[in-house]
Amino acid sequence: MKLDLQNNLKKYKRPFLIAGPCSVESEEQVMGVAKSIAAESQPALLRGGIWKPRTRPDSFEGVGAIGLPWLVNAGKEVGIPVTTEVANAKHVEAALSAGVDVLWIGARTTVNPFAVQEIADAIRGTEITVMVKNPINPDLMLWVGAFERFQKAGIDDLVAIHRGFSVYKHPKYRNVPNWEIPIALMEEIPEIPLICDPSHISGQRDGLLHVAQKAMDLNFAGLMIETHNNPDKAWSDAQQQITPEQLKVLMDQLILRKASIQNGGVSFIELQRKKIAEIDDQLFELFKERMQAAKEVGVYKREKGITILQSEHWRKIVDKRLSQADEMELSIDFLRSVLDAIHQESIRHQTKVMNPEVK
Ligand code: PEP
Ligand code: MN
Repeated sequence: MKLDLQNNLKKYKRPFLIAGPCSVESEEQVMGVAKSIAAESQPALLRGGIWKPRTRPDSFEGVGAIGLPWLVNAGKEVGIPVTTEVANAKHVEAALSAGVDVLWIGARTTVNPFAVQEIADAIRGTEITVMVKNPINPDLMLWVGAFERFQKAGIDDLVAIHRGFSVYKHPKYRNVPNWEIPIALMEEIPEIPLICDPSHISGQRDGLLHVAQKAMDLNFAGLMIETHNNPDKAWSDAQQQITPEQLKVLMDQLILRKASIQNGGVSFIELQRKKIAEIDDQLFELFKERMQAAKEVGVYKREKGITILQSEHWRKIVDKRLSQADEMELSIDFLRSVLDAIHQESIRHQTKVMNPEVK
């Protein structure tokens, strides 16, 4: 099925909502949750994982092809198209012949160009919509590359799903959002609608609203949220799933802001933007001056035979600046990244002065 989300966002109403269980567990489970979700929230798509790419082999790996008719029938019963994850050509064939309406590519598949190509080849010639989750590692081009493989196979109805990026033991997120990557995707391929999956970013119920709201404020087109009638007993991703009632509450709590600036606001926003642009001009002018000064120090170091990196001096600069974080109302992380970027650029300039022959 072609969702044509690019042209039909109005028909679907923002946020375009995809809800349903992490995994299809039984015929009754998926029918039950489909009915409750439909009654509460009327999502645009009903999701259900049939083949589950689990990290550890002893985890539940999905019911497999036997569950496809359960999912398709549940969707038919409530009049909502259904979507499932496919990871190889066999999955594609089984899903399409069972009547699954939309396919999605999981994060563990997007990382593998061989797998993406195999799926693209299996879908070639159909009109189906394909949703592509970001790769588990923060690599924008791998994500872009997957879209290109589908486009080359003649699939033009593509949707992006941002589900965060894997890190080792993060205190807050199961997968860190790195919002700059989906924002960069919007710049790179603006015609592809972007949907956020707060369930896999947050990894726990408590964090869903915050992530979903952030996605709405960044003007994402929609949300994919894992929903289960008995989340604590879910066979996969139990901690992050919510009930259809909780989903309704969450959707009602979202504040949807306008993407364009309305009349009255223009003058204020324009004024502020001008002010910000002027501050940025000054900032970058100062960066230029700072690098000029660093170069002069580089000339001196070259003449006296002193190394570029002066660790003790650098440590003092960092300590001093970081100790001002609170007072300046700037985060330590922000200050640290700015300092590191400035330091790297200074080193680059001094390296050029020191070794003009090295490119
Ligand atoms: C899922 O949606 O249940 C899933 C496995 O997602 P991801 O590919 O984002 O891990
Ligand atoms: Mn899941």
